[in-house]
Amino acid sequence: MSTSKDVYTFADLCDWSQSTRDLQPPAKLSVFGDPIAHSRSPQMHNPALLAAGIDAQYVRLHVQPDQLGDALQQLKEQNFTGTNLTIPHKAAAIEHMDDIDETARRIGAVNTVLVEDQKLIGFNSDAPGFARAIREEFSVDLRDLRILIIGAGGGAGRAVAVQAAMDRCERLVLANRTTDKAEALAAELSPFFKEDRVSGPMARLEAISLDEAALEAQMDNIDLIVNATSLGMKRGDPEALPSALIQPHHFIYDMVYSPARTHLIAQAENAGARAANGLSMLLHQGAISFEYWFNREAPLEAMRKGIQDSFLPS
Ligand code: NAP
Repeated sequence: MSTSKDVYTFADLCDWSQSTRDLQPPAKLSVFGDPIAHSRSPQMHNPALLAAGIDAQYVRLHVQPDQLGDALQQLKEQNFTGTNLTIPHKAAAIEHMDDIDETARRIGAVNTVLVEDQKLIGFNSDAPGFARAIREEFSVDLRDLRILIIGAGGGAGRAVAVQAAMDRCERLVLANRTTDKAEALAAELSPFFKEDRVSGPMARLEAISLDEAALEAQMDNIDLIVNATSLGMKRGDPEALPSALIQPHHFIYDMVYSPARTHLIAQAENAGARAANGLSMLLHQGAISFEYWFNREAPLEAMRKGIQDSFLPS
């Protein structure tokens, strides 16, 4: 494989055969973002493409918001298989799709685009990637869990909440600093929770504020706690959850994966609870994108090794 540039631009995309003339195999997959230099997706997808014997490589494309529509159209012109989309493009991409799958439509965000017969088809692999990550980490399906999402008002929290609702989880509690956002999401998801499944006094679907008393009132009736806030990425961030609230029966999933042992994971382990970071979600969303592009199983272990190696000092 000849080495690609770390980041390509929209101008490069418009003249793709020239700007990638030295690349072998040809670049037919990408991730669009602004910024994009930090993305680990090429380190995950290129080993997968190699392992699967697919004659294509995956590159980073710096696409600014006002370039998104044209950049997506270029994918057709330049014979791409597809692309991933990251911040800030996931919601804005919807209007540029020719077709969109149900999960992406409900979430209102596309992170995977397939180019097929000169059409752009939008998918969301974050949400099903989360479901697979929970199964891998804790050997349990979302439908069997009572789930608390902290940060349910953000993009990631919304994706996870929609997946949990579509999988008909036992209970869903949406907590957010800006409570209005959690309430609006709960209203939207209420049709999924019409039938009574859990015996006892707790409602199957609730929106709560992010204060200690409101959280404490939930803890006996929750199995899985998801941190979908960005808290934990920076040293000195406030805690996403007070330690005293964590019980040994809880599964804690921190969507943050850098650092690998987040403060929340340390808190969970000290409380005797099982915990995992967001790397498995990153891996499984990538595997599901691969499946959308190639309609075949992804070489998961090659992807896992690629993403793990990306954290090794260079
Ligand atoms: P986002 O849309 O900006 O949402 C941020 C969320 O965090 C909102 O709910 C926000 O609450 C909350 N928040 C921010 N600062 C807070 C504070 N000081 N106290 C309490 N709540 C606070 O971000 P996002 O795209 O959803 O990403 C959220 C996290 O998920 C990031 O760490 C991201 O890296 C991670 N993520 C991981 C994966 C994965 O594959 N593992 C995938 C996607 C995202 P308000 O609504 O009140 O502002």
